Amino acid sequence: MNQIKIAHISDLHFSRFSPSPAQFFSKRWLGNLNLLLNRAKDYVNERPFSLLPTFKEKGITHVIISGDLTTTSSKQEYKIAEKFVEALKEAGMTVFMIPGNHDHYTKKADQNKIFYESFPSPRRKPFSISAHGVTSLPLTEEWHLVLMDTTYASSLISSNGFFSPIVEQNLKSLLTKINPEENIILVNHFPFFQHDIPRRRLIRGEKLQEVIASHPNIQLYLHGHTHRRTIADLRPNNLPLILDSGSTGHRQGSWNELHLDATTLDLTVHQWDEKWKAIDHQTFSFKSKPWYQNGLRFKCTGCGKCCTKKGYVWLDEDDIQALSKHFNLSENAFMKKYTRNCGFDLALLDNPNSDDCIFLKDKKFCEVYKARPKQCRTFPWWPQNLTSIDEWEKAKSECEGIDHEEAPLIPFSKIKDELEK
Ligand code: SF4
Ligand code: SF4
Repeated sequence: MNQIKIAHISDLHFSRFSPSPAQFFSKRWLGNLNLLLNRAKDYVNERPFSLLPTFKEKGITHVIISGDLTTTSSKQEYKIAEKFVEALKEAGMTVFMIPGNHDHYTKKADQNKIFYESFPSPRRKPFSISAHGVTSLPLTEEWHLVLMDTTYASSLISSNGFFSPIVEQNLKSLLTKINPEENIILVNHFPFFQHDIPRRRLIRGEKLQEVIASHPNIQLYLHGHTHRRTIADLRPNNLPLILDSGSTGHRQGSWNELHLDATTLDLTVHQWDEKWKAIDHQTFSFKSKPWYQNGLRFKCTGCGKCCTKKGYVWLDEDDIQALSKHFNLSENAFMKKYTRNCGFDLALLDNPNSDDCIFLKDKKFCEVYKARPKQCRTFPWWPQNLTSIDEWEKAKSECEGIDHEEAPLIPFSKIKDELEK
């Protein structure tokens, strides 16, 4: 696989002092006061812009921004952030961004999700970050990127995030759709470990930790929020390598340069000291280690249960060809007699008197066993069943052949072959 060169930056905090008497004692008013008294000393809008020549020189291909592009989420600050992101794109870099708590700083900003007005999220199927709080896209053949939005309208003096039950559900569902062989980079503004101070924490952060722990292919967790550079390798505990770039917009800001290929991450940490200087370099290797690497037990008992419940048996072209041949029918005649259209896809009909598959006889026997569709042949080795132990347990609750007392151990190599069918 080709190497990609990622710049991870965070907490840029572009700022523009914008007091308004109408906002007296509002959260933005306090934010401006804080800006005047504290942040303005430490943050310079020029600092992130100074990265452009450095990124070009280093051949950065992708930029990941893990939130807090602005300080009080004002229009003026968003304008500066847009200019910065546009400059990165014009220089040929692909930019991925998520909002931080400062980007949805006020209740109104959060309700209107104003981050997405400046940075519209592409509508990805099945989840887009602006609507569902999570989205994913393949980065390379071996690495998948998952972006999360855990911002919410926190109170006047807090900077909490919220891993809501809906985002949790969406994240779990999204993870089932990623091949468990692929490694995942998960990007969230809030850190993996909870902050000492409760008003800075990710609410329900322990639930996010649980999801991450049950998906060992989440190998990298990139975040911001703390303004502290962090490298925490939790992989000996079957958790990800955690990276916080630190605050890139700070006077002595920092950023991480990640050279990533299928199995290796070369990480260089840079810090501003009159110019950008490399201050640390580490190499990490990643082996694809699916949770089922030691094999799984399965033996079909022929109970027929998986052919009886309500659902769809999807057909591809090969299935249609094989089944038409089995019945000695033309493909058109077979489709007319035994299939139904569901959107753009084709599925087998159900038995008109039950939810059983139309080919199930006596509640037990598959009439087309030798020509049965791929979906039936490859069960239970479906990517969604192998995403995590939880998903495997769910499949087990519906199939008595999984972990059956007489089931042999199916080796990892065989499972892999089945997954690739
Ligand atoms: S439910 Fe499981 S054991 Fe029963 S027929 Fe289906 S695959 Fe075989
Ligand atoms: S085609 Fe056969 S194996 Fe597949 S669902 Fe129908 S009866 Fe079951």
